[in-house]
Amino acid sequence: MRYHFVVNGYADDVLRQMEEQMGFAQKYLNGMEQGEAIIYCRSAEDVQRLERHHSKEAVLISAREYAPEAVLHGLCDRIADGGLYIFGNDDAGTELSVRMAARLSGSSITEAESLWLSEESAGDSELINKIHVMKMVYANHMEAAFVMEREPYCISLARGAASQELRMGSFVIKEEISCENMAEHIVSQEFYPEALAGGLDEAKVILAAGRGVKNKENMAVIDKTARGLKAEVAVSRPAAMNAWKPMNRLIGVSGAMVGPEVCITAGVSGAAAFYAGIEKSKFIVAINTDEKAPIMKMANVAIVDDFLPIMEELNNICK
Ligand SMILES: Cc1cc2nc3c(=O)[nH]c(=O)nc-3n(C[C@H](O)[C@H](O)[C@H](O)COP(=O)(O)OP(=O)(O)OC[C@H]3O[C@@H](n4cnc5c(N)ncnc54)[C@H](O)[C@@H]3O)c2cc1C
Repeated sequence: MRYHFVVNGYADDVLRQMEEQMGFAQKYLNGMEQGEAIIYCRSAEDVQRLERHHSKEAVLISAREYAPEAVLHGLCDRIADGGLYIFGNDDAGTELSVRMAARLSGSSITEAESLWLSEESAGDSELINKIHVMKMVYANHMEAAFVMEREPYCISLARGAASQELRMGSFVIKEEISCENMAEHIVSQEFYPEALAGGLDEAKVILAAGRGVKNKENMAVIDKTARGLKAEVAVSRPAAMNAWKPMNRLIGVSGAMVGPEVCITAGVSGAAAFYAGIEKSKFIVAINTDEKAPIMKMANVAIVDDFLPIMEELNNICK
């Protein structure tokens, strides 16, 4: 089996990502044959300008603008056999590694910290490779071991898992695949920088919405109330999984552990995995139609009602 680096040539910190890929390979892939680097990028000139490399040969998947769907198309077309594909640590690497594995019926693990190989008997003296990966889970509270069973194995790296200085010089570009016209369905795109300050960690007041909020339209009511209360909006897992809010708003063992002055929950049952995230709050208000929901016993104030009229009333008070 061979391993290949998949490089985000659009990223400002591409060299840092490549150093981590090289460090990871040196630490965990000793003895495994190295394949080519697959670099998605604007142009061959951009790649040559790096003046550093970590693989001899590279295949480029190029387009003026980064479009995940187009890169994925190029990647999946290119990959004829199995092997291990190592993506860098950024949002693109995380997304592409998972989507590539899903399309090619392989396996994926994001944010890998370490890796080792084992050979196991599949009967009739046949041996099959298995890849074991360690990664941090539940907001870095635990380390878990995963086994990947189907090729291609697609992993993205945890930040700082390992690092190794790159070699000076350029990649030998074997092939350039243009994917300029593969994302014609994208009419326009805008990028918003992620807010670095503020957020849930520093919030004094949090309004947390759960599955009981029911839909994205009702989340707009929560947003409005939060603005009036000068609160940060958070969600339970079902609400995050329904994409009512992004994952960085998730509270609980898999998300943020918060300790605001006041935490108001709306339509949250208070499962242990959620409650662990808010138990350090100084004052908890729970709004739930079910008086027997576990959160009602844990709250300082429990309101048995539909959350919508309560939000409306809070909006009136905050006017
Ligand atoms: C390993 C693991 C990790 C997990 N990590 C997390 C985590 O980090 N965070 C997390 O949140 N969950 C996590 N979960 C899931 C967790 O166990 C619960 O399933 C989840 O917290 C339930 O979310 P909820 O309270 O929004 O939904 P539900 O449990 O479905 O509760 C919805 C509540 O809304 C109430 N309701 C319905 N309609 C209304 C209304 N109109 N007005 C007011 N109330 C209403 C209902 O009475 C109910 O109590 C994890 C689970 C596992 C197995």
